Amino acid sequence: EEKILEINHLKKHFDLGKNQLLKAVDGVTFHIRRGETFGLVGESGCGKSTIGRTIIGLYNKTEGDVWFNGRNVHELSEKELFKLRREMQMIFQDPYASLNPRSTVREIISEPMEVHQLYKNKKEQDERVYELLEEVGLNRDHANRYPHEFSGGQRQRIGIARALALGPDFIIADEPISALDVSVQAQVVNLLKQLQEEKGLTFLFIAHDLSMVKQISDRIGVMYLGNMVELTESEMLYEKPLHPYTQALLSAIPIPDPDIEEKRERIILEGDLPSPINPPSGCVFRTRCPFAMEVCSKEKPEWQEVENNHFVACHLYNKNVKNTLDKDPVVN
Ligand code: SF4
Ligand code: MG
Repeated sequence: EEKILEINHLKKHFDLGKNQLLKAVDGVTFHIRRGETFGLVGESGCGKSTIGRTIIGLYNKTEGDVWFNGRNVHELSEKELFKLRREMQMIFQDPYASLNPRSTVREIISEPMEVHQLYKNKKEQDERVYELLEEVGLNRDHANRYPHEFSGGQRQRIGIARALALGPDFIIADEPISALDVSVQAQVVNLLKQLQEEKGLTFLFIAHDLSMVKQISDRIGVMYLGNMVELTESEMLYEKPLHPYTQALLSAIPIPDPDIEEKRERIILEGDLPSPINPPSGCVFRTRCPFAMEVCSKEKPEWQEVENNHFVACHLYNKNVKNTLDKDPVVN
């Protein structure tokens, strides 16, 4: 397997002053394989968008490193980082906010090509704009219109066309379908899948809900309060979630079959999501975990591969920690 992206012990802390440190990302390690879709999931504020922005170099890191196509992203010069944009692009949640309302679709999609001086003449560039519009399911007649003339789904298609303008091989999609109507979500997901096949793209697909990433992801990483708590193949995650937080997230997704739905044990998490400003000691999930043990408040659980390609950070799976529970964690 070829890794397009490698993230090692990445930390991104924000100093808020007055001795307050926001630990948005607090030591995350994973990689992304070339050509796959990696789903990154967690509640808002868990650090998933911060990871996206740190990968692409919009944020500097606090600790750790990010390797992209063999280069250390945070050691690149301004000029090299600028060039990196041709390989790595981002799609945002709210296409309306990220598209300039006073620009035509042509201007919006041309802008990155102009900034990077991709074409010598305007005609060539225009042809590329039309091609991109067609690739995302729009057409050349849309080029002279303004963002407000389009539906949410169409605007997201414009955002995708712009992200494709420089011919990247890696795209970070930060909640690209969360703001769209349910009926439109599948269309955008299908478009992304189709583009991936045609262009051999790699995606980091960020979502706040496990049901949204199921269809599209090859592997999924689950985040909670700045930490990655579980990572495995998509199917494995749904069949055999190991981390209590993943189990709770999955148990919240309704199952269409009423017989199964009725018998299923729903895990309700107690308490609120703590603040990442003063996260709990030890395991960050311990204040809401139904299985919390003494060790959980004292030691941060290690990120370990408990079975092939299945990573989890939880003391329940650490053979060196005595399991003080009289029950086993639910595996649903
Ligand atoms: Fe729960 Fe402890 Fe595992 Fe954290 S380490 S998820 S508190 S059992
Ligand atoms: Mg976000």
